[in-house]
Amino acid sequence: MSARDDTVNAAARARRFAFRGAEALVRSAALDGYPAPDAETAAGAPPWEAPGGEALASALDSSAAPLPEPSDCLALGGGALAASYPAGTEAPDGWEWKPFRAVINALPERLWLPAARAMAYAAWRSSSRFCGRCGSPNGDKPDEIARLCPACGALSFPRISPAVLAVVRRGDRLLLARNASFKTGAWSVLAGFVEPGETLEGCVSREVMEEVGIAARATGYMGSQPWPFPDQLMVGLSAEWVSGELEPDGVEIAEAGWFGPDDHPPLPMRGSLSRRLIEAAFEDIRTAGTRR
Ligand SMILES: [Zn+2]
Repeated sequence: MSARDDTVNAAARARRFAFRGAEALVRSAALDGYPAPDAETAAGAPPWEAPGGEALASALDSSAAPLPEPSDCLALGGGALAASYPAGTEAPDGWEWKPFRAVINALPERLWLPAARAMAYAAWRSSSRFCGRCGSPNGDKPDEIARLCPACGALSFPRISPAVLAVVRRGDRLLLARNASFKTGAWSVLAGFVEPGETLEGCVSREVMEEVGIAARATGYMGSQPWPFPDQLMVGLSAEWVSGELEPDGVEIAEAGWFGPDDHPPLPMRGSLSRRLIEAAFEDIRTAGTRR
């Protein structure tokens, strides 16, 4: 195969993810046929994987959508492009701008993860236009995705901010809390950013103590998920109660309690790692109950 064939093939594979701020361009047909965002899902295979067919497979790939020149376009590895458009850019027929959170809520993770990657890079591009060391306009490093300051030589890379989700069990009960800032009224597992010099396990213990006043110990890894608002990597850890009674801090956490699989308050949005971990923990509790 010639070099030109390689180029042509790469172009044929190129996927363009288009963003307008925190909104992604989505094929309208891919969003049809999904249940309401707050619909409960049964444990096991999510019923919302089924519809859509071809529209679903290319839900976020806007390569074929007639769009104007982007204000910024970054080539990522694997033939993906992250294209940014200014506010006011109209969506072409058959497409719509959707808040990316709504996309996560509506589409399976395997479809939105590549777009989440592109969105995180696009957000990093727009927030790294100036050098953090000397304030000069930044340039791009030609051979990798990084910023290189032409004035002082400072090199900077896309930032990833790790955050833990603490899935704390006390016997057959799971700790859920309502964050004072959550507008949806959903209850979730406790979450917090990892601090410099801290292990993931140390972060679990500190966050749980700070937010609800109990001692807890991390017991294992459950899963992870990039969360591009703007650059988190969520890491789920299981944990067990050690001592103390729940005393929400009243600032970040408004209410907290211990819940079972059949008596819990409203859960976080479908598609989020927190929702998946909570459902996994409840399933585990149910299974353990059946065995007894
Ligand atoms: Zn500089």
